[in-house]
Amino acid sequence: MTFTHTNPLHGQGRECVITRRACFSSSHRYWLPEKSSEDNFSLFGKCSIAPGHGHNYELIVSMGGKLDSDGMVLNLSDVKHSIKSKVTGQLDFRFLNDVWPEFNIHSQEGILPTTEALVKVIWNRLKDELPLTSLRIYESPTLWADYYGKNMEALLTIQSHFNAAHRLAKDEISLDENKKIYGKCARVNGHGHNYFLDVTVRGKIDPRTGMICDLPSLQAIIDDLIVEPFDHTFLNKDIEYFKTCVPTCENIALHIADILSSPIKKIGANLHKVKLQESPNNAAEIYVEQSLPNSLQKNLTNSLVAQA
Ligand SMILES: [Zn+2]
Ligand SMILES: [Zn+2]
Repeated sequence: MTFTHTNPLHGQGRECVITRRACFSSSHRYWLPEKSSEDNFSLFGKCSIAPGHGHNYELIVSMGGKLDSDGMVLNLSDVKHSIKSKVTGQLDFRFLNDVWPEFNIHSQEGILPTTEALVKVIWNRLKDELPLTSLRIYESPTLWADYYGKNMEALLTIQSHFNAAHRLAKDEISLDENKKIYGKCARVNGHGHNYFLDVTVRGKIDPRTGMICDLPSLQAIIDDLIVEPFDHTFLNKDIEYFKTCVPTCENIALHIADILSSPIKKIGANLHKVKLQESPNNAAEIYVEQSLPNSLQKNLTNSLVAQA
């Protein structure tokens, strides 16, 4: 394919979202002065232990805008400087509860520096500097929060994993027909995967505890209802639902979403998304709160037409 240089403006005026990653290490402690030691421990567990504990945080800043005549949304060295001066330079190797007044829990407006509270506070400190579209903070590779500038609303994701075997075949058709549809996945004795499961909940950050919902309860729901019953099983035989439904990655993700939706509602959050990574090459995502937007479908059709 040959490209002709038809745009002397280097893309000027076209829209793009860019991301910048920045890391910092900080400590924090979940402890509220209005509660007894026992209440603090029962609410926050080991996170309440003095003087605190730390994390290696990873911040992903997404920014949107139109390209300038240099072909950039923003000059990355300016972006880097803003993030460092406003956020990472202030937080790195510091105790979060003390470093910013937003986290001073001895004042009435103080909020505990949870992952979801931290991402919201960072948004407020960066929003006048950078054209933010979203922020994500990883507290660890298996826990992260997303924020889109919508008041107290945030998303929190926990990643879990389990190993399971399955076989893709429908009882009502022959082996040859199954092999035509599912290929090697239809072989009679099955095969296995290391599944990675991302469960994303949406909710309002509590102005005091900084939490969308009780994290240990959320973890317990995922462990008790999914990881424990699914791990080291042959899904088609051991999980009742898959005795009659083909356990494709899509169907497993849907079944997980169906199982988790109402228990998560009971702890005060909404199941937003389930992502099941079956292998490095394939994953399924279920958007529980919305159907795929019509516009997305339209774009897809348009782009297919354009490629034809
Ligand atoms: Zn922590
Ligand atoms: Zn498979």
